[in-house]
Amino acid sequence: MSPELELLRKIFGYEQFRGEQQAIIEHILAGGDALVLMPTGGGKSLCYQIPAMLRGGLGIVVSPLIALMQDQVSALLQLGVRAAFLNSSQSTEDAREVSQQLRRGELDLLYVAPERLLTPRFLEFLANTQIALFAIDEAHCVSQWGHDFRPEYVQLSVLHERFPDVPRIALTATADKTTREEIAVRLGLGNARIFVAGFDRPNIRYRVVQKDNPRRQLLQFIDSEHQGDSGIVYCLSRKRVEETAEWLQTQGWTALPYHAGLPTALRQHNQMRFLREEGIVIVATIAFGMGIDKPNVRFVAHLDLPKSIEAYYQETGRAGRDGLPANAWMAYGLGDVVMLRKMLETSEADESHKRLEQHKLNAMLGFCEVTTCRRQTLLAYFDDHLPAPCGNCDVCLDPVATWDGTEVVQKALSCIYRTGQRFGVGYLIEVLLGKTSDTRIERNQHHLLSTFGIGTELAADQWQSVFRQLAAAGVVTIDVEGGGLRLTEKARPLLRGEQTIRLRKDHKPSSSRQKLQRTASHSPFEGSDKMLWAALRAKRLELAQAQNVPPYVIFHDSTLVDMVCYRPDTLEGLGKLSGVGIRKLDRYGQAFLNVLDEHSMRYEG
Ligand code: ADP
Ligand code: ZN
Repeated sequence: MSPELELLRKIFGYEQFRGEQQAIIEHILAGGDALVLMPTGGGKSLCYQIPAMLRGGLGIVVSPLIALMQDQVSALLQLGVRAAFLNSSQSTEDAREVSQQLRRGELDLLYVAPERLLTPRFLEFLANTQIALFAIDEAHCVSQWGHDFRPEYVQLSVLHERFPDVPRIALTATADKTTREEIAVRLGLGNARIFVAGFDRPNIRYRVVQKDNPRRQLLQFIDSEHQGDSGIVYCLSRKRVEETAEWLQTQGWTALPYHAGLPTALRQHNQMRFLREEGIVIVATIAFGMGIDKPNVRFVAHLDLPKSIEAYYQETGRAGRDGLPANAWMAYGLGDVVMLRKMLETSEADESHKRLEQHKLNAMLGFCEVTTCRRQTLLAYFDDHLPAPCGNCDVCLDPVATWDGTEVVQKALSCIYRTGQRFGVGYLIEVLLGKTSDTRIERNQHHLLSTFGIGTELAADQWQSVFRQLAAAGVVTIDVEGGGLRLTEKARPLLRGEQTIRLRKDHKPSSSRQKLQRTASHSPFEGSDKMLWAALRAKRLELAQAQNVPPYVIFHDSTLVDMVCYRPDTLEGLGKLSGVGIRKLDRYGQAFLNVLDEHSMRYEG
């Protein structure tokens, strides 16, 4: 058995390496540099932790996520790995203690913030220390185009200049090629071997529902599928974050707000509660999330449309890192299109940048309206290819019907044209349906137009869907100020009858929900298993709270699921489960065996 596999089994309690882990570890052990692109939850950490433990000297992990270092280190200590961190959040005594450990050579891994690493004093210390490797986590932070840019990251190129013989491994979950190239250039990783893992997250179920009453829809979704689970709800604005969190609280959920406008202490407190407790929902803007490594986030919900597929994929990727079933749920409607186009048009960015963002938004809208497998669409966007439909997205589970919309689209477009390209969707629908409750219609004499009342074959909500799809496809644009619709170049061939168009038939919210629910209920257990599951989780929480660490560093959900399924009754049996290494078996094995034992006496005689 190779030393790395032995370590994986003994310390981490895992049977096999996943994907490219072993190849990456061997490459680093042999002294090579690596650039690792792996989706969230893919298992990046082991790729530097194991080589750091096997090579002589200290492994240095550079990470921008100061708030999370403590948990990362706690998780390693639980495994019996000699790790520590140094950053500005720590007391002077704690930092001094770590310095002493370092001097005595008692550590295998040190997590450090980039600004600390780059101080002359620290670089000097490194020069006199045996270093096993440098791991640069969240390496996309060097990218000036990305939303996580950290100026100190650019200076990390000094590591290569000062320590040319120490292997470096840069890791990120950001997939696109531009970022990848930028990382290689800026960190001087020209000779690094690049490992790209597939980006699919098969355990995440992607769903998009048409916005109707988004809060109610959200509540229905979490009430019916996620009782007692942890999840994240993303909103576009701070105000909406606060309102949604408050409202969910009145509905019996422990929902906490998170956005950049809250006092730092409160933000950290909320994040901490999310990590440490079970069943907490965080309602957040995009400010929340980089590096959130809570493995059992069971759902990510979007109440507003993200600006790009990259952002959407990164945000939804925070669900289900543990590999167990998870939901990515989004409510989307015409209002989102208007709102995002508005933000784009009024942004300060230069023209070329705006065009790029426009392009990204269009791709996102295309994803919302797609009538084929969503996962195939997502992966294709990242140049990753999924040969067959996934069977685990709303379109696969509940296929979308399409219909020939050519004629109604002509009616809609000519109605926009004849009313002078300045009215919003509500007005246009009234004209199409031949209604005059909007008093402006008679005042403008639009009840005399040939398009007045020509659209009675569809109901108002169906017309809404037609206009939404036309806006998403860029056939019409929506005026930022007044919400008026205008035709684009793409409208012409449709109006002239030179081109046909197929439209998606929206599901009535109720029917699609019922159909999905039958297969989507993730709650793993029923009956007495469910009670055992709860008892095991309670034991875990108790052990975690006693040490002030997050529950998942004791055992992951997947390990508890295994306990319910396999019902080990000896320490040896328990030790065979995935995620139970020797140290954890030693510390917690008996406590969990007792829970199992008590349960079987009580319920199974
Ligand atoms: P990433 O940093 O890529 O998002 P992590 O390193 O946090 O992912 O790993 C994700 C999860 O998968 C963790 O819970 C980790 O313990 C688990 N994991 C990693 N490698 C393996 C493996 N070879 N076998 C089983 N579980 C693994
Ligand atoms: Zn699918």
